[in-house]
Amino acid sequence: MFFMQTLSLLQIAPTLAKFFEVHLNSQARPVEQILNFAYSRKPVPKVVVLVVVDSLDFRFYTDFADDLRVIHECVKGDGLLFECETVSSHTTPVIGSILTGLKPEEHGILTNDDVGKSKIKSIMEILEDEGQKTAAAIETKGAEPLWGRISYVFAVDDREDIFEYDELIKKHTISVLKKQDLRLVFSHLRAIDRFAHRGGDLSAAAKATNKNIKAITKAVGERNGLLFICGDHETHLKDRKAKQALHRKATVPLIVCCP
Ligand SMILES: [Zn+2]
Repeated sequence: MFFMQTLSLLQIAPTLAKFFEVHLNSQARPVEQILNFAYSRKPVPKVVVLVVVDSLDFRFYTDFADDLRVIHECVKGDGLLFECETVSSHTTPVIGSILTGLKPEEHGILTNDDVGKSKIKSIMEILEDEGQKTAAAIETKGAEPLWGRISYVFAVDDREDIFEYDELIKKHTISVLKKQDLRLVFSHLRAIDRFAHRGGDLSAAAKATNKNIKAITKAVGERNGLLFICGDHETHLKDRKAKQALHRKATVPLIVCCP
């Protein structure tokens, strides 16, 4: 089901906080449709997997629908699809916002150098403070502030072979889902972003992403979990930039489903 109302990526963390009944400071409102969807499941999901697909904007999501079939099928099943405004065109501040519900100027994580310096807690840390276990499969630098703060940290070194990188992220995401007391997993797939920046074959990157999402989807389904998939910012494509500037700001998709 596609909702016409445009959301903001800032609403993801407040929605997760409300779902898990923990307190999070944010001006952004939880998304009622997502909460109703989650609560209406029998059984109500115990674990949520949040996958950020780097550089997946709404236009890319529709342009590469054939290659991103698994994500589209999540929506066609009985999943939810929203269009979200983002908060920056750079990955680090957006991920900070997805995980805190705060704008970049509020959480202060603007560059890689700021990672770990913010006093603001992510939704994972808030859950851990309440005794709820969480995990993250993320690039080594982004993982640094999470060591010792959350139950399971899977740090994956950046590398030339981005397919290998995503493969590891997927593997860790699936393996940690075997932990029965886990409540939230965050993971970050990067192939589309890398290929967009380097002018690579975007269809190949989309297909690889689709395959990883397919495996994650299966694992989430086996746990009766709730899956969130979203982009972080507009796809950084050279030939699209000029055109984009004439149009309204790029939006990113947010998909929520129980596979
Ligand atoms: Zn990004």
